[in-house]
Amino acid sequence: MKRILLIGTGGTIASEETGDGLAPGISASGLLSRVGGIERGVRVESLELLALDSTNITPDHWLMISGCVKENYDRYDGFVITHGTDTLAYTAAALSYLAKGSPKPIVLTGAQRPIGFDSTDSKENLRDAILCASSDMPGVSIVFDHKIILGTRAKKTRSKSFSAFESINYPELGAIRDGAVVRFIRQECGRTPEFSDFLNTRVALLKLIPGIGRDVLDFLFERNDAVVIESFGVGGLPEAGGFFESIREWKDRGRVAVLTTQVENEGSDLGVYHVGNRLKRELGVLEAYDMTTEAVIAKLMWILAKTGVASQIERMFYMPVAMDMFPR
Ligand code: ASP
Repeated sequence: MKRILLIGTGGTIASEETGDGLAPGISASGLLSRVGGIERGVRVESLELLALDSTNITPDHWLMISGCVKENYDRYDGFVITHGTDTLAYTAAALSYLAKGSPKPIVLTGAQRPIGFDSTDSKENLRDAILCASSDMPGVSIVFDHKIILGTRAKKTRSKSFSAFESINYPELGAIRDGAVVRFIRQECGRTPEFSDFLNTRVALLKLIPGIGRDVLDFLFERNDAVVIESFGVGGLPEAGGFFESIREWKDRGRVAVLTTQVENEGSDLGVYHVGNRLKRELGVLEAYDMTTEAVIAKLMWILAKTGVASQIERMFYMPVAMDMFPR
């Protein structure tokens, strides 16, 4: 008998019409009673942890969710977390670091349409997630629209369609076909998970637009330990406007700068153009390569809670965790 813990956190899947827009109102046990069709040999118990639209989820909630998995880890064979889709990719990335190397499945799912609607993806997604959590699929993943996506590689790429998530720069782990888990890749795991209980949330993200100046960057550096810059194409910074000087000054004061790209697929390659090359060579800016922005943010919060030493931050950042980046 496989024992699965369903942890409810809210989201569309658990939402009801309030007369003032959808809001979470159905508990985890309510979801379970509506889903039906759970395989024989699988026992699901439920726990209501949060009831939030995922727009309201913060890193403190990521810690609550991983704390809940940690507390219950020995009593269950797998975990399903129902969650709003809007920030699901962030939570999946965060759990990949907070419960690093989990040999048991930790599966996140949600829906684009509430479970009580006539047309809904909730029931299928939840059933599939339970199936995946009772299988031999280690680590953190998102199950959605019959796809199984690695937690560090997921991105919400559609705001309305049922096929809301894609796996970025990495193949899907598997699929749910005809009520069975078909595994394409088996990801590595440890014998036991390495849980972390802290995050440093002094991490910010700046999306560049043409003509932007250094003042925004200075504002963010003043208030944070790390700033992630979503640049254009394979990566670089405008040569006018004082960006290079800004980064040099803040790096000297111990801040971390990471360059990534606004382009969803194929990642950064800072060395290619003059606008990027110097950043890496002279200024020691870190580069996200094929990582998703969601994973970069969560990884930095996780690393910066462990160390403030530049050389260690760099070493940990480039060390792949749950295949969040290809080894270099
Ligand atoms: N706003 C909702 C949420 O993220 C959307 C969803 O769940 O699909 O909680």
